[in-house]
Amino acid sequence: MPTYEFRCRECSGTFEVNRPMSAASDPARCPAGHDDTVKLLTTLGMTGAASVPAGGGGGGGGCCGGGCCG
Ligand SMILES: [Zn+2]
Repeated sequence: MPTYEFRCRECSGTFEVNRPMSAASDPARCPAGHDDTVKLLTTLGMTGAASVPAGGGGGGGGCCGGGCCG
């Protein structure tokens, strides 16, 4: 089950929630009981080989598009 990171705007604390992907966009409650939380961008930190493109295929944010590829 993926872990999602949230930040509470009331107490500025961050916390993690384990939930199924189907509930990824559901609101989360701060451990302190606050409802005003925002979901942070979370990279799925799976152990093992991540899907890092070898050599860079121009998949966004890489070299291509910055003017150095062509
Ligand atoms: Zn809070």
